[in-house]
Amino acid sequence: MSKDIMLLSSVPTFMMNDLQQEYVLHDHAHILDPEAFTKVTAFVGVGSTSKVDRKLLSMFPNVKMISIFGVGYDGIDVAAAQEKGVKVTHTPDVLTDDVADLAMGLILSIGRRIPQSDKFVRNGDWVSEPYTMTHKVTGTRLGLVGFGRIGQAIAKRAAAFDMTIAYTGRRAKTNAPFRYYPTASELAANSDYLVVAVPGGNETKNMINAQVLKALGPKGIVINIARGSVIDQTALIQALKDKSIAGAGLDVFWDEPNIDPQFFKLHNVVLTPHNGSNTHETRRAMADLALANLKAFFDEQPLLTLIPECQ
Ligand code: NAP
Repeated sequence: MSKDIMLLSSVPTFMMNDLQQEYVLHDHAHILDPEAFTKVTAFVGVGSTSKVDRKLLSMFPNVKMISIFGVGYDGIDVAAAQEKGVKVTHTPDVLTDDVADLAMGLILSIGRRIPQSDKFVRNGDWVSEPYTMTHKVTGTRLGLVGFGRIGQAIAKRAAAFDMTIAYTGRRAKTNAPFRYYPTASELAANSDYLVVAVPGGNETKNMINAQVLKALGPKGIVINIARGSVIDQTALIQALKDKSIAGAGLDVFWDEPNIDPQFFKLHNVVLTPHNGSNTHETRRAMADLALANLKAFFDEQPLLTLIPECQ
């Protein structure tokens, strides 16, 4: 089988070097070799930025596999891929701890206003006034929107902070020792910190809307480490402006990295640049898994981590 692959988005340099040693790489945006359209048998992409639709798939008659560097695959038209017999793999588990760590970091950052306090000290404001009071974390109520791998890893960490944990999702988990609420609104009404950990895509689009934010209330804080699409960002900015919620900690946004400049003026939000899995160790582990899936494909071996729809 030809070892021609197409890169859908940029990947870390170390992964690029590994890919170049093993494969003939074609760049998604600038295909220089017209024969690549028939030679390419696999795509490599990044969870949050790679888009594969029916049209793109139809341009590559021999593509049979898509290896995603990341756990989310909301940019892939999975139904179209399945119709064409294209298998999709992703990199679950290896990034779970880092994303959960960042979620806890955002809870502490916005709850205790750590970045804002740092700015206050650096600006020399401490000599003229004491810092404003912050929000307690230990012993508060954590609501998890999504209780999968990352949601459960956040729960484990939150338990060490004596937080009371509850969750929502498509259905209650039989083995979970925590309270289940059937809707995000009911969960929000019973949470101090509402953490979003569901996949992106049409099913979850704007799941956290004005009604959910209203239910969270003026003492509530929302954290998003999932996908920007899950929160109605217009409603969120309004709620932050009105102070109808206390704050937000956001790692993901609509149209990132071109995020809405209104966020820059808000003092009740902490922003990070889609950093959930962004550690040296985890990015290496994600690359190794994405490469191992590719190798398995070209060796005609079973793929290691197929997305659930392809299993
Ligand atoms: P996961 O194990 O598949 O968990 C997803 C959870 O969401 C499951 O509990 C699932 O419920 C629930 N869910 C799915 N669709 C839903 C719907 N329509 N309504 C309500 N709940 C729904 O995935 P994960 O590994 O925890 O990852 C979660 C997401 O985090 C990824 O898809 C990705 O978008 C995001 N992520 C972000 C970063 C970052 O850098 N910020 C890094 C990695 C991942 P069921 O149990 O009923 O299936």
